[in-house]
Amino acid sequence: MGKSFRLMQIRGIPVEIHISWLLIFLLFSISLAQSFFPLMVEGLSASVYWTAGIITTLLIFASVLTHELGHSFIAINEGIPIKKITLFVFGGIAQMEAEPSSPKSEFKVTAAGPLTSLAIALFTGALYYTAMAPGQITGEAVFFVARVNLIMAVFNLIPAFPLDGGRLFRSIVWFFSKNILKATRIAVILGSVFSFIAMGLGIVIIFYQENIFGIWLIFLGWMLYQAGQSSYSQLVFKETFSGMKVSEVMSTNLETISPDATLEELADSFLHFKYGAFPVVYGSTTHGLVTLQNMKEVPREKWAFTTVAHILTPLKDTMVIRPNRDAADVMLKMATQDVGRALVMDESGELVGLLSRTDMMRFIQMHMILGEE
Ligand SMILES: [Zn+2]
Repeated sequence: MGKSFRLMQIRGIPVEIHISWLLIFLLFSISLAQSFFPLMVEGLSASVYWTAGIITTLLIFASVLTHELGHSFIAINEGIPIKKITLFVFGGIAQMEAEPSSPKSEFKVTAAGPLTSLAIALFTGALYYTAMAPGQITGEAVFFVARVNLIMAVFNLIPAFPLDGGRLFRSIVWFFSKNILKATRIAVILGSVFSFIAMGLGIVIIFYQENIFGIWLIFLGWMLYQAGQSSYSQLVFKETFSGMKVSEVMSTNLETISPDATLEELADSFLHFKYGAFPVVYGSTTHGLVTLQNMKEVPREKWAFTTVAHILTPLKDTMVIRPNRDAADVMLKMATQDVGRALVMDESGELVGLLSRTDMMRFIQMHMILGEE
């Protein structure tokens, strides 16, 4: 997810800042110092505006961090350790070591974030109305922080998974259905509806109001959609292959082919075994992988005198994994890198199995159908 750097540690939780946050820091400080504060309070010097701009931006930063700490402290209370908190463009993520084990636990952990933001909004709002005069720069800064926290609470409560609102929604469905996969699926569908509404609204705003704000809505909707889809498939992989090693899901009845075989012989093997690919092995050396796709690139009249060695995908371009790797991790890696097949080789370089994405997808489907009944 790009570059992040460690900022500090709070109660044992590392806090990191993503590079993208620096850009937001700059944009926020500039727009506050150059347009917001001069508009709200006239006649002050540039250095005062800049100081107020930077301090207010830091307060917003502290608000986002407190929101994430809200999630984190409740998670720790619920027995879920926090790996780290990362702050980036649109807010932050408190990365949990594990998903909450019950819907009640998820509800509590999730609700803690927006409640924290709401509490800050109420506190700073009350401070503004009781102790500060409007038209003074400190008052305007405090009121700004109050509003941003209110927006943060409301925005996060939009029921679009994986936003807090979507997680709350999921925990409720989970509570009643007692099935986390089903609950997540429903939450992701609802989330997709919200992301499409955001994107559609963005398009309308661009065309009818000619407002650049529409681009942000489209971007935000798209990010939400992607996040929902990927967190769903991650959960499916984790649930299906939980605790399983590659060696337990790979296929071991290996049919291999020699690099010296002709494409006619290879065609016979494809027809006979009905596999989509063969590891290319000579003696104890694995040369790579040959697929139907590789074969299609050679015209039929050349099959008799072309060897497998000419068309194979060499080992260096093939994904090679160890049998003791976590199956869910590997599946996720194959999905994100769009790799169809991986060779499983042990430390000595011996080929021990083949892992294909279609086989694993079939396994997932089977698991979901059998698991729901
Ligand atoms: Zn949150």
